[in-house]
Amino acid sequence: MKTSEGIRIIALGGQLDPNIIAGQSKDKYPPFYSETDAKVLRGATTADILITSEWPEGIRARSKTEFNPPVQPSAQQCIADLDVVLKPRYHFSTSGGTFYEREPFFHAPSDETDGFYPVTRFISLAAYGNPNKQKWIYAFSLEPSASHPVAPPTGSTACPLVLSEKKRPAPEHREQALIYDDGTRGRRSNKRRKGEPRGPITASECFFCLANENIATHLVTSIGENSYLTTAKGPLSTSQTFAGLGFPCHMLIIPFSHQPTLGSMEEEERRGTYAEMQRYRSAMNSMLKSVTETKYGSVTWEVSKSSLPHTHWQYLPVAADLISKGLVEAAFKALAENLHWPKFEKQDVGDGFEETSDFFRVLVWNPNDEPEKQICYVMRFDEKIRFHNQFGREVLAKLLRLDNRIDWHDCGQTQAEEEQDVQKFKEAFKEFDFAA
Ligand SMILES: [Zn+2]
Repeated sequence: MKTSEGIRIIALGGQLDPNIIAGQSKDKYPPFYSETDAKVLRGATTADILITSEWPEGIRARSKTEFNPPVQPSAQQCIADLDVVLKPRYHFSTSGGTFYEREPFFHAPSDETDGFYPVTRFISLAAYGNPNKQKWIYAFSLEPSASHPVAPPTGSTACPLVLSEKKRPAPEHREQALIYDDGTRGRRSNKRRKGEPRGPITASECFFCLANENIATHLVTSIGENSYLTTAKGPLSTSQTFAGLGFPCHMLIIPFSHQPTLGSMEEEERRGTYAEMQRYRSAMNSMLKSVTETKYGSVTWEVSKSSLPHTHWQYLPVAADLISKGLVEAAFKALAENLHWPKFEKQDVGDGFEETSDFFRVLVWNPNDEPEKQICYVMRFDEKIRFHNQFGREVLAKLLRLDNRIDWHDCGQTQAEEEQDVQKFKEAFKEFDFAA
């Protein structure tokens, strides 16, 4: 959360339970958290105050401060990761009957920190009313706009914590992260021996899960409460496709929840996720309107298929006249008809809960309408047709005369190019990003 004074607070309560899977607990306030819960918080990028029940693994290294409790507090690597990534000014935790305040530690300066030294103070309070009269309350003042020091403060040590990724050899197939097909080409199939059954993709190997350490985090442009926004890997459009925009704007809206469809999420999560995905869609529509007036509308599409690992939406601007002349609708209908697939119906299936079959849907926005407006088309299908997950991209590639870019593998960019597109998008989206 961010207070009205602009202080960013991140909290992770309870104990780590490595066996729970995110989103599985029906309890709103479970006394446990999962590694996924911890990893999702890394998406916040920065924090002023971090509060955790458990300690970060390795926090006492390089420290000379005495600490001899009867029972050592339990410490976790995933919490150390939060300190390293978020670089909070204060990290508060607890330690039974004993108080502990570590010497402040500094993080190495980088471009990200403008060459300054972010400093973290780790303070672990004793329990309220503890018999040893150890400190259980702590007063401090914090100026959220204060910059980091230009040199490490006296008495501080270098950061004792190490990011978990750095403890392991570099992951393979990094370039395949954040793909947007069904994962059959992107998944790490070479690790599976021939004949071995292909199990469902777990959150830790899913390229849409923030829990996956291999996801291309440099493509992430905004992180909401239930979903996040990224630029597409191998975008259909280029930075020249949309005159006046200057970046491809082929975007993915991805729920945090590792579920094949919106309909398979639990009610509260489903409603919140759907509402926020819609919010991202209309925020991008507002951005398009502010940058290009009514030159471009947008098309958002979704494959809702129970055999896919992780549902998501794709978003692409389309010239307004293609929309007003009905050519977008016609293009989807024509290709489906050519393939002898079921007919599209003009219908809004909302969060998909009422749907009993797999479906493909398109949400079309005309820039002469309000940004949250949409015209919806849905095609329901079953295994009798050989639906291919690149259908939406194929239709739009033909419509926008980008036939040579149908396959995302042919649209590879260097990391520098990707970062530049991300930067340009963020710049344009800044004032519409409700999650920032
Ligand atoms: Zn996933």
